[in-house]
Amino acid sequence: MKIGRLPVVDRTNGWSAILSERSPNAPLKGDIAADWIVLGAGYAGLAAARRLAENCPDQTIGLIDAGSAGENASGRNSGFAIDLPHNVGSSLDELEGSHRFMRLARSAIDQLGEIVSENKIACDWSADGRYHTAVSERGVKEVLEPYAKELEALGEPFEWMDKAQVKERIGSDHFTAAVFTPGGALMNPAALTRGLADALPDNVTLYENSPVVEANFENAVHLTTGEGTLRAPKMILAANGYSEQFGFFKNRFLHLVAHGSLTRPLSDAEQEAYGVSAPWGLTPANAFAGITMRYTNDRRILIRQGLDYCPSQVFTAEEQRRVKQRHKALFDQRFPMLPQVEIEHTWSGIVCLSQNSAPGFGQLASNIWSAVCQNAVGVTKGTFGGTLAADMATGRDNPLIEDMLSLGEPSSLPPRPFLDIGVRARFMWELWSNRHEA
Ligand SMILES: Cc1cc2nc3c(=O)[nH]c(=O)nc-3n(C[C@H](O)[C@H](O)[C@H](O)COP(=O)(O)OP(=O)(O)OC[C@H]3O[C@@H](n4cnc5c(N)ncnc54)[C@H](O)[C@@H]3O)c2cc1C
Repeated sequence: MKIGRLPVVDRTNGWSAILSERSPNAPLKGDIAADWIVLGAGYAGLAAARRLAENCPDQTIGLIDAGSAGENASGRNSGFAIDLPHNVGSSLDELEGSHRFMRLARSAIDQLGEIVSENKIACDWSADGRYHTAVSERGVKEVLEPYAKELEALGEPFEWMDKAQVKERIGSDHFTAAVFTPGGALMNPAALTRGLADALPDNVTLYENSPVVEANFENAVHLTTGEGTLRAPKMILAANGYSEQFGFFKNRFLHLVAHGSLTRPLSDAEQEAYGVSAPWGLTPANAFAGITMRYTNDRRILIRQGLDYCPSQVFTAEEQRRVKQRHKALFDQRFPMLPQVEIEHTWSGIVCLSQNSAPGFGQLASNIWSAVCQNAVGVTKGTFGGTLAADMATGRDNPLIEDMLSLGEPSSLPPRPFLDIGVRARFMWELWSNRHEA
C-alpha cells in the first residue's frame, strides 16, 4: 500500500532550537533485513525498540522514522511526565482503573528516570511536581475541589494552595487556587527524545529522515522509503496518529494540533523583578480554555495554549504567527512585571486522541503489534505502551500487560463530515462554557 500522508517536518520546535546541533543517524539506504522493525521513533517507538533489544539480545531491530529525533510530537510537547489520571471518578471500578493507570505511568517514569541517569542524558529531568490551577471561583468549585477529593480517595498526597500561596510559588496572581501534586517529572522533551535515541542498545539501528512511502505486510513486513527498503518478519507500529496510513485503526482517531511557545531566558534583573527562582510546571483546570505553563531551569517561560481540530494533520506558518501573538498577550496578562520579555520560539504539534481515551495497543496481525494513540499523555503512555508491546510481541511475562489491556480499545467514530461538525461544535462549546478559566 502507498502511504498517502507523511508527517510534517519543520524546524520550529523551540525545545530543540535551544539545544546544540545534533547529527542525525543516516537515512535508510539499500535493501536491509532485520529481525524486527519498529516504525516511529517517538516515546512509544524508542521504548519498544529498547525493550525488544533487551528481550532479544541476539536479534537485530531496525527503528525507522520520517524525521530526526526530537522534532516529532515527542520532542515538542510541554515536557510533563504525568503520573495521575485527569479524571478519577468515585466508583470502585473507577478508582481501580486509576490505580492501574498510576502503576503503568509510574513504571514509565521510573524507567525513563533510570535511562536518563544511566546515560547522563542532559534533559533537565526533575521531580518538581505539578500545580493544577484554577483561574475562577467556579473552576475551583467545579474542578479543583472534586479533584482534591479524588486524590484523597486514591490516597495520593497533595497540597491545597490559595491565591497568595500560588502567587508566591508561580509569581503570577492570575490564579485563584491550585492543587499541588509532588509526583511525575519535568524535562526538556527534545533533549530527552534525542538522548533516548542516542542511547539505544547496540542491536538497534535507527534510520532517521526516512519517511516510509510504501508498506507491504504480506508474509513479512516490507517498508519502502525513497532510498531503500527495510524487511523483517515482525513489526511494532509506533507511528501514533499516522497509523491509519498503514491500514490500521481506520476511523478511530481524532487529530488535533496543539501549540507551544518559549520566551527568551530572563536576565538577572528580570528574575529579580519576577521574584521566583525555582522551576515549576502548571496544568490548567480546563484543557481547552486554560494554559499549561512552565518556568524552566534556564529561566524561560513556556506557554502551551490552544487545541484545534486538525483532521488534515497539517499546520501552517500563518497559524503559528497568530498563535505567537496570542501567546504573547497571554504571557503579558500573567506576568505584567516582565514587559520586555519576548517569545523566542513558537511551534505546533499533532496530537492523537480516541473518543473513549483508550490506547491503540495490542496485536494487530499475526506479526504486527502496536503502541499508538497516547491521548496527549505520550511521555508516560507512549513509554509504557511501547515497552509492553515489545513484551507482548516477545512473550515476556509482565503483569502490567493486563493493566494495559484493561484500558480498552479506541471506539469507532462517526463518519465525516458528521464527525467534523460534531467535534468543532464540541470544541466551541468547551471554549465558551469554560471561558472563565481563560
Ligand atoms: C504542544 C504539545 C504539548 C504536549 N504536552 C504533553 C505533555 O506535557 N506531556 C505528555 O505526556 N504529552 C504531551 N503531549 C502529547 C505527546 O507529545 C504525544 O502523546 C507523544 O509525543 C506521542 O508519542 P508517540 O511516540 O506515540 O508518537 P510521536 O512522537 O508522534 O512519534 C511517532 C513517529 O512516527 C513517525 N512516522 C509517522 N509516519 C511515518 C512514516 N510514514 N514513515 C516513517 N515514520 C513515520 C513520525 O515521524 C514520528 O516521529 C503534547 C503534544 C503537543 C503537540
